[in-house]
Amino acid sequence: MIDVPKQLFIGGEWLDAVDGATMPVDDPATGEIVCHVADAGPKDALLAESSAVRAQEEWAATAPRARSEILRRAYEIILSRIDDLALLVTTEMGKPLAESKGEVAYAAEFFRWFSEEAVRVEGGFGTLPDGRNRMLLMRQPVGPCLLITPWNFPLAMGTRKIGPAIAAGCTMVLKPAPQTPLSSLALAGILREAGLPDGVLNVVTTSRAGEVIEPLLRGGRIRKLSFTGSTQVGRLLLAQCADTVVRTSMELGGNAPFIVFDDADLDVAVDGAMAAKMRNMGEACTAANRFFVHRSVVDEFAERLATRMNSLVVGPGTLPGVDVGPLIDEAGCDKVDRLIEDAVQRGARVLVGGTRADGLGRFYPPTVLTDVSPDSDLMSTEIFGPAAAILTFEDEDEVVRRANDTEWGLVGYVFTRSLDRALRVSERLEAGMVGLNTGLVSNPAAPFGGVKQSGLGREGGRIGIEEFLEYKYVAMPAPATARRSHVG
Ligand code: NAP
Repeated sequence: MIDVPKQLFIGGEWLDAVDGATMPVDDPATGEIVCHVADAGPKDALLAESSAVRAQEEWAATAPRARSEILRRAYEIILSRIDDLALLVTTEMGKPLAESKGEVAYAAEFFRWFSEEAVRVEGGFGTLPDGRNRMLLMRQPVGPCLLITPWNFPLAMGTRKIGPAIAAGCTMVLKPAPQTPLSSLALAGILREAGLPDGVLNVVTTSRAGEVIEPLLRGGRIRKLSFTGSTQVGRLLLAQCADTVVRTSMELGGNAPFIVFDDADLDVAVDGAMAAKMRNMGEACTAANRFFVHRSVVDEFAERLATRMNSLVVGPGTLPGVDVGPLIDEAGCDKVDRLIEDAVQRGARVLVGGTRADGLGRFYPPTVLTDVSPDSDLMSTEIFGPAAAILTFEDEDEVVRRANDTEWGLVGYVFTRSLDRALRVSERLEAGMVGLNTGLVSNPAAPFGGVKQSGLGREGGRIGIEEFLEYKYVAMPAPATARRSHVG
């Protein structure tokens, strides 16, 4: 496996935790410990924060082109090491190598996209309506940022935040999930190699998130939190940000509806279902959680989906031909088990999968449930595993109402051949993103994010860099001659 430093990255140096603590990183396929990395405490986090604060002014003053070129070099380095980085992602997170390669390419693309955006930040200038005053609009970086990422896309969730922060001229402290710290440490090494100045990016790996993060959010020096993770933790962090009015971007959980109308092309719908359900073994915020299928096509759709799910090869992500790797940990497997058991008790039929055989470790068999009762727990809980739950519906109004009947609103999927219906339902779905006849929406050039309790703000697209920029309005009187001619 690629050799990644196992220490904290602070001020351009690799450092042990002040108290010498380390934490294990395991391989979800075997449960074996792969290595130990530094386990930061509050003192380390404050050091990292100080380093980001010190570097901020000079970094904000660098030429946009210089920031752009660092990102571009990092993009090229990542792609030149795609196989090594994919193996790293698979080792700490579990997904099959082909999917990890996809994630590495997706992650790199954020650096390329934001290298292009770094040089396109524009302010404004104009005369105000009264003719007596002029306005200059400046764009400035928000300042030192705290970035917190989950384990499910360990490389891409990092670059999706680091890319725009670098492009905008912000410094940062990154705290990756404790299950997957290696991808972030690898990124730090790559960015340093690409010429990122010391202190701009600091990486703090820790198993003590609560202890380490709260003082930073309440301390008044961090000006922005960009968080990706569960809605539950997001709410807690929003409350911590309130005291010092820290600006936030929150990419939180989802409960995606996947709607198949009676006029859908079922080949396209089943392909879409496989992508929307099985990407990342179902451990994705965009994963289809509730399949609503029109009564007239539900049997055929369920059968075809079950056949496809049944053909998937489950095993360690490093083995060739494997489609479905292990889930991240025992707790993740237990949660899927619990949700399936609850649905079955409430009348669901299992078409494939449904139980974890003894000795399977963290591997969960691809599962299709049909006749799922609307009061099942999985209707209001992210399954985060390879299980598809199918319900039926009769008409459009009903399915839109049921699809929107959730506190979340990240993404929805709609399958129909009718353009009118496609646009109408897209408008009516309470979601930040809609997949129309496709099960894959993520793209670095598109604004990713949710409404309701799925989050605040967007990542990627033209808007991604805005999350890291402030406006400053400078008021100036218009020259006397202009005022005279306006008045007279
Ligand atoms: P999580 O438990 O919320 O953790 C996310 C990150 O927050 C981890 O780094 C975690 O570290 C940290 N964290 C937890 N408690 C914290 C605290 N009190 N203070 C500071 N940091 C804290 O989520 P997860 O299980 O890693 O990821 C899965 C969730 O992420 C799902 O809900 C999924 O939908 C969501 N997600 C959303 C998007 C999106 O773009 N909308 C993308 C991917 C994932 P510790 O583990 O050490 O606590």
